[in-house]
Amino acid sequence: MSNRPRVVIVGSGFGGLFAAKALAKHDVDVVLIAKTTHHLFQPLLYQVATGILSPGEIAPQNREILNKQKNVQVLLSEVTAIDLPTQKLRAEALGHVSYVRYDYLIVAAGAGQSYFGKDEFNVFAPGMKSIDDALELRARIYGALEVAELTENTVEKEKLMTFVVVGAGPTGVEMAGQIRELTSHTMKRDFRTFDPTKCRVLLLDGGDKVLSPFGERLAAKAKHQLEKIGVEVRLNALVTDLDGDGLTVKYKDGSTEQIAAGCKVWAAGVQGSELGKTLAEQSGAELDRSGRVKVNPDCTLPNFPNVFVVGDMMNLDNLPGVAQVAIQTARYSAKKIVADIEGRTMDKPFSHFDKGSMAVISRFGAVMKAGKLEATGFIAWVAWLFLHLLYVVGFKNQFMTMMHWIIAFLSHSRSERTTTRQQLAGRLALKQLGDDFQPTITGSLRPTAIDERISPSANKEEEPQEI
Ligand SMILES: Cc1cc2nc3c(=O)[nH]c(=O)nc-3n(C[C@H](O)[C@H](O)[C@H](O)COP(=O)(O)OP(=O)(O)OC[C@H]3O[C@@H](n4cnc5c(N)ncnc54)[C@H](O)[C@@H]3O)c2cc1C
Repeated sequence: MSNRPRVVIVGSGFGGLFAAKALAKHDVDVVLIAKTTHHLFQPLLYQVATGILSPGEIAPQNREILNKQKNVQVLLSEVTAIDLPTQKLRAEALGHVSYVRYDYLIVAAGAGQSYFGKDEFNVFAPGMKSIDDALELRARIYGALEVAELTENTVEKEKLMTFVVVGAGPTGVEMAGQIRELTSHTMKRDFRTFDPTKCRVLLLDGGDKVLSPFGERLAAKAKHQLEKIGVEVRLNALVTDLDGDGLTVKYKDGSTEQIAAGCKVWAAGVQGSELGKTLAEQSGAELDRSGRVKVNPDCTLPNFPNVFVVGDMMNLDNLPGVAQVAIQTARYSAKKIVADIEGRTMDKPFSHFDKGSMAVISRFGAVMKAGKLEATGFIAWVAWLFLHLLYVVGFKNQFMTMMHWIIAFLSHSRSERTTTRQQLAGRLALKQLGDDFQPTITGSLRPTAIDERISPSANKEEEPQEI
């Protein structure tokens, strides 16, 4: 074991990965722990869900990305507890439990979907935060059309031909636009018992505009572009009930509407990682309404100058949950750790450089805003294409992504339409097995809580491992 200071990073999203990379040339040991084996490029999840890209293109392996960086060890595990006073965390994966000590900790565990207290909606309307979510949605979108072809019941057919996206932020807008494109173009010749171009795609939002952070002018343009391609935009519309058959919407004027829809997508609201609670309880930090940890101006926790919280799970000056905030807070935290190790003081608080935001609406149509610069249509779309390609990790993935885009944008066809029963039902099946069920790599299906003394692969008692 080396005597170098050890920096443990939780998460391999933009925050975790960029923190690890920022420590590459420094005299520290880095341990990156993430509950998935990949770094996920969330902004392109909707393209996996709608069949343009494959999961591997937007989710390269952490091990592969970091294999040349000798000072980093990658561990697959979910961090289930962090003990700030003893500087240890507990991590578990596939029945294996480890305790990991740290000198410095960077927590970049991101955020999940919020259903605003109505978690039961998530059975019928999956969110879009992970590869699992995107593949489940892909199976639901294409599956709805398959069943529409089979049924002779016209009411059922209409329901299955109706798609609803809840939340008109960038994710909701992009998702609605893509479902419209695939029903209007990609699949227009694929069915015999109904006309897919007659499918309805609705985009609902409780606010009074789509893409509200983009400002009045771009929001209006985005709405216009969506309506032009046939998306029905409903604003000031709150979802009050939702089940397998559809949803109930209450409008600002007090009226309500029942919408029958087979496939629903939830793209509204975020909830900071569960780890935020334990960090807040132990450090006295506050949590905001979305469960994000309010950090000091240098991204540290109150009373724990060696613990940094970055990216989507932190709240600093109400910065938005976007990739650039995660990248910049991660790099800043790494710098601050290096300064501390080298005995230098770094008093400068974190300051965010806003590089702007963009959202795609349809093929060749997007909106973008960077400071005072605003653009729409083809120019914004080209800028979106270029910037997203730049941030896809690895040349191989950039190349494959570009190939798939050329196919999709020039011919309307999509090469990643494959769906499976497991994608469709896996999440709900696991839910039914209960929280105590833990998958193992041996295939054992024991519905058992993890016993810290048992390693299922060896199937013998052993001490929990300390790393
Ligand atoms: C659908 C979608 C579209 C988006 N589009 C854009 C966009 O166009 N532009 C933009 O700037 N931003 C966009 N964002 C936001 C952007 O992706 C996030 O701001 C960014 O990913 C945050 O990075 P992060 O590292 O904080 O969290 P994440 O990227 O969410 O990473 C969290 C990491 O923590 C791991 N993790 C979580 N809990 C644990 C645990 N207990 N133990 C171990 N590991 C754990 C996860 O596996 C993951 O590796 C989008 C987000 C989504 C969901």
